[in-house]
Amino acid sequence: MIPKTVQEAERRLAELRAEIRRHDRLYYELDAPVISDAEYDALMRELIAIEEAYPELVTPESPSQRVGGAVAEGFAAIAHRSPMLSLANAFSPDELRAFDERLRRALGIDVVEYVAELKIDGLAVSLTYEEGRFRYGATRGDGLQGEDITANLRTLRSIPLELERPVSLDVRGEVFMTRSNFLKLNAEMEAAGKPPFANPRNASAGSLRQLDPAVTAQRPLEIFVYGIGYLAGATVGTHWEALQLLKDLGLRTNPHARICRGIEEVIRYCEEWTAARDTLDYAIDGVVVKVNDLAAHELLGATAKSPRWAVAYKFPAEQAITVLREIQVSVGRTGVVTPVAIFDPVELAGTTVTRASLHNQDLIEARDLRVGDYIVVQKAGDIIPEVLRSLPERRTGSEVPFRMPGECPECGAPLVQLAGEVAVRCVNTSCPARLIEGIVHFASRDAMDIDGLGPALVTQLVRAGLVSTPADLYALQAEQVASLERMGERSARNLMEALARSKDRGLARLLFALGIPHVGAGVARSLAEHFGTVDALIAAATRDGGQALLSVPDVGPVIAESVSRFFAEPANQKLIADLRAAGVVMTEERTAPGEGPLQEKRVVVTGTLATMSRKEAEDAIRAAGGIPSGSVSRNTDFVVAGEKAGAKLQKARELGITVLDEDGFLALLGFREDERAE
Ligand code: NAD
Repeated sequence: MIPKTVQEAERRLAELRAEIRRHDRLYYELDAPVISDAEYDALMRELIAIEEAYPELVTPESPSQRVGGAVAEGFAAIAHRSPMLSLANAFSPDELRAFDERLRRALGIDVVEYVAELKIDGLAVSLTYEEGRFRYGATRGDGLQGEDITANLRTLRSIPLELERPVSLDVRGEVFMTRSNFLKLNAEMEAAGKPPFANPRNASAGSLRQLDPAVTAQRPLEIFVYGIGYLAGATVGTHWEALQLLKDLGLRTNPHARICRGIEEVIRYCEEWTAARDTLDYAIDGVVVKVNDLAAHELLGATAKSPRWAVAYKFPAEQAITVLREIQVSVGRTGVVTPVAIFDPVELAGTTVTRASLHNQDLIEARDLRVGDYIVVQKAGDIIPEVLRSLPERRTGSEVPFRMPGECPECGAPLVQLAGEVAVRCVNTSCPARLIEGIVHFASRDAMDIDGLGPALVTQLVRAGLVSTPADLYALQAEQVASLERMGERSARNLMEALARSKDRGLARLLFALGIPHVGAGVARSLAEHFGTVDALIAAATRDGGQALLSVPDVGPVIAESVSRFFAEPANQKLIADLRAAGVVMTEERTAPGEGPLQEKRVVVTGTLATMSRKEAEDAIRAAGGIPSGSVSRNTDFVVAGEKAGAKLQKARELGITVLDEDGFLALLGFREDERAE
């Protein structure tokens, strides 16, 4: 597809560059790509092929010559001590062999020793340690400067704030989310009516590139480090030694890196992991191959975009074409109604796939999907099957466009779209589909933790008419349960015991279990600790539209309104009364308000503190009798502003709240000068 004339080449290059820049912005700055990585790679390969045929048309601004990202608005920029580059790609064993041949020629040796590593599909970060202490961290950005995400990185437990030895260095690594945590996060996003993330990579990037570190702190992010950008106070001769050093310093390296002598060993490693990639609980999109000898790195150097001593072998994309047979509509616990694509079975990443969530009507329209269409499906980020697009050129005319029904397919109640939400919901709280999902949630591990009560049994109980609210669970008789299909006396007895045990879980879990929209486990805990009893909470929630709830840490107007609406509902009041009558505990032990200089004071920490991490500051506040809080409101007593404090500091000033700098904060905590010295 190489254009035959310079004019044609110029035109196509202009198109491709504009297209790639658009996708770069969507991917790197907005964390919301609209095409798959394989499609992006195809655009880039076409660009490079044309530029190779017409070298006079290469410009320094071309995406082939630059690292893709930029510093997004709202973030401070941090200049990297050495550039953070991208990697050249190889899509087949032969391309790896060609890479190896170039290196052997350039280095004048017969066999190159490589280190092969998994290519973790997350977000590249740089961590700077000075004399062993974590100082700041940044995203890759445009390779020369990245976004300052120090406060966010401090919330990751796998990033040590202090190394085993007082070395000064820049560490390069990848922040990622495990598949299981990704699925959990997406379920929470969907329950809250927010659009889910497309894959773990976007979830990691979206969670880390947050202006509010409190959001990052709630996201299950992890890191693997894989390289050094700058090093003082130690020397290493090979990349393998660098990895060992990082490990010895207490940083988390990936356990699957391997030394390979010659490219054929590398190719075997790539083949092994192409087959085994799905056995990992995190997404990988290839293998990174690096020359082991660091002197050779010096010799080979880098282009403006990527080092010459490394290459990324990309796994083949896992896509397939099939026929969309039907779009079903399923009803979730909070009543959110989701369209689901049902298609002819296809093999993807080692499993047979027949269905994929289509999320909402907008997505169906954006991807131009009609029942009967040929469609392209893939497993995004290796886990969740996704319908990418239709193939309109294969239409016969019999395909049928889809419209979301106006009524719930389960109970016939009208479906409504709440303001500000993309999701459509069934408003009938006793809709059987909602009921089943709701009870499954009530029994789930982080909620009432009722052992053995999973979706299958809940469905049986609801269908048999034995259970129509969570309170009915506690009225079940062992004989009733034993008479259900596939149940026996023993499993019935076990369920009875699990139900009895679940009564003592306390108010925080109960509130979470009730499935109040927008009330996740964290907010439920805040509410429970603040009010102590369900009666105090209900009193506050049902007075003045729940205004009093706003004084609870982490509760804003949306949550307050949702809680207030929930408890105003007579059916929910009855549910609480029934649960109480069944003996379910409705109180939470309150941690006694501590004594100390900050007794009962609400304190918000924002920006980066020089002497302690966010977590340490919060612990110190608690130890001093105060209540650490994530958001600034009229009820905040103090805002502690570290370096680069932003929106929260501004809000504090607007509300006239006392702002302390770090020294003022330490003084208030009662630290003396000498205790503060590092
Ligand atoms: P890259 O992802 O191909 O390779 C470089 C990155 O690999 C590094 O920055 C680092 O983050 C990561 N990495 C993971 N494990 C590593 C290890 N062990 N050692 C070294 N690095 C490791 O290059 P890129 O420039 O970050 O991104 C280009 C790719 O991003 C494209 O090939 C495409 O897959 C994707 N992309 C997609 C879109 C889209 O719209 N879908 C847009 C832009 C980019």
